[in-house]
Amino acid sequence: MSEPNPVIFLHSVERRYHQGDADLHILKGADLAVWMGQSVALIAPSGAGKSTLLHIAGLLEHPDGGEVYIDGVATSTLPDTERTQIRRTDIGFVYQSHHLLPEFSAVENVMLPQMIRGLTRGEARNRSIELLTYLGLKARLTHRPAELSGGEQQRVAIARAVANAPRILLADEPTGNLDPHTADRVFDTLRQLVRASGLAAIVATHNLDLAQRMDRRVTIREGAIIEVD
Ligand code: ADP
Ligand code: MG
Repeated sequence: MSEPNPVIFLHSVERRYHQGDADLHILKGADLAVWMGQSVALIAPSGAGKSTLLHIAGLLEHPDGGEVYIDGVATSTLPDTERTQIRRTDIGFVYQSHHLLPEFSAVENVMLPQMIRGLTRGEARNRSIELLTYLGLKARLTHRPAELSGGEQQRVAIARAVANAPRILLADEPTGNLDPHTADRVFDTLRQLVRASGLAAIVATHNLDLAQRMDRRVTIREGAIIEVD
């Protein structure tokens, strides 16, 4: 039997920015493959290109060279409508700040992406309640973001990211704004979810303790991805 495709495969990815007279060559042939159920911590100093890499992996940005394969499919030549479709159905994002809609409750924030995708209100509500309960927020369903703690807000953001059952989860310093104890809990939640749902996850973080609990650790050195212990 042949090896299954990685869920996501960044191959020889190049990214340059022109800033005034300077030519910043941020990614120089970066390679990264992630399989189903696998969590990868991306640990690198500020400015190394973590967010850039996640944006390219999430099809939010085009690389200047190389290719992003999702389930073995090359995405660079797909029309924008198909890239958007993949982003909506296959990829979930979590950011450092939660980006929840302030006027909606926790459960409504998780329902919205599902309704955009075509689920009925009732279906979306049931799945949202199930997810939020799994993430320990059963008693917070009708709270608005301002009525939640930082850790609770991030757990709602995680629920929203996986609401449409994506295959890939991309998180950009998701616990960067949290105190150590809360960061710990949120990180555990994330890891549990990755294992239980067979997601492929790439999580940028500065927290080495948390990174140690992921399946793999990588860094960006001189524009390339390197595995670290
Ligand atoms: P990290 O997330 O690891 O802190 P980023 O991926 O955000 O790093 O940025 C990597 C480098 O690329 C930084 O030096 C940053 O200033 C530069 N950069 C990022 N986005 C742009 C942009 N849109 N235009 C110019 N330079 C950028
Ligand atoms: Mg960043």
